[in-house]
Amino acid sequence: MDIGFVGLGHMGSGMARRLIGAGHRVKVWNRSPGPAEALAQEGAELASGPAEAFGGDAVVTMLANDEAAREVVLGQGLPAARPGLLHLSMSTLTVKLCQELEEAHARAGVLLVGAPVLGRPDVAAAGELNILAAGEDAAVDKAAPLLEAMGRRTWRIGQRPHQASLVKLAVNFSLAAAIEAMSEAFALVEAHGLDPHIVHELMSGTLFAAPAYKGYGQTITDRAFEPAGFKLPLGLKDVRSVMEAGEAADAPMPFASVMRDNFLDAIAHGDAKKDWSAVSQVARRRAGLV
Ligand code: NAP
Repeated sequence: MDIGFVGLGHMGSGMARRLIGAGHRVKVWNRSPGPAEALAQEGAELASGPAEAFGGDAVVTMLANDEAAREVVLGQGLPAARPGLLHLSMSTLTVKLCQELEEAHARAGVLLVGAPVLGRPDVAAAGELNILAAGEDAAVDKAAPLLEAMGRRTWRIGQRPHQASLVKLAVNFSLAAAIEAMSEAFALVEAHGLDPHIVHELMSGTLFAAPAYKGYGQTITDRAFEPAGFKLPLGLKDVRSVMEAGEAADAPMPFASVMRDNFLDAIAHGDAKKDWSAVSQVARRRAGLV
């Protein structure tokens, strides 16, 4: 297939590489030129802008947030797209923006699949993402070869693209809550003079033997927040998106409110360039450990 790929950040670069490796012709565009030029060395073609990237059989977008998607997709790509184009929107966006995208794509005759992902940059580079796909069956079927090149498994969520974002946000909320719970538990034992590594080993080897607790527990106890896999402001964005989705359905999310303030606290203390698990420093600071 002729595929456009827009947004070559931590996640997008590895995902685009997978599509090139699967034999597709991939035209890439990124706001800052470096990542696109790097991929051009590996077989990608350079698109002059989002409009050109939206000119093939399919286009994948992996942008930071709503603002970027609004500017790039609604502002530049979609107005240039021909009817029948398939768009895989893989960024984690708000439910509200996804609903706006659904309407705009329907007006333009462009097939939209909401396909946000679970997995970090190394998982993306290995083609092992879990992809949450929502859209009309025909569109998701058409997207299947591309999703298979980028992911280990495609989870079909529903017929409306925004439903995938809702589920992705619900999962990220649970992940943020796990990070916060571990942060407070580790700060507690550290404040009493114990090494939190033993608590992490115990928890992730018994009751909490899950990838989220194993991986993030290690990062938190080692304080290995750089280089960031998932930047702290992106975590704040997701928590705020969860709160917005909760409000839209009168579903209170009290933990999300606490985490929003913790992310703001971490950013105010200079941690914006670090991984979102650096929010654990907020609990340590409160316990007088920083
Ligand atoms: P990232 O490294 O910060 O990359 C963000 C991308 O968006 C870059 O290509 C950036 O371009 C582009 N961008 C930002 N603002 C823009 C604008 N106004 N106009 C045009 N392009 C813009 O982020 P990431 O970690 O790859 O994450 C991408 C998406 O995947 C996010 O929605 C995130 O929540 C989600 N996600 C991330 C992870 C993870 O572990 N990292 C896991 C699952 C899902 P520049 O290069 O020019 O800045």
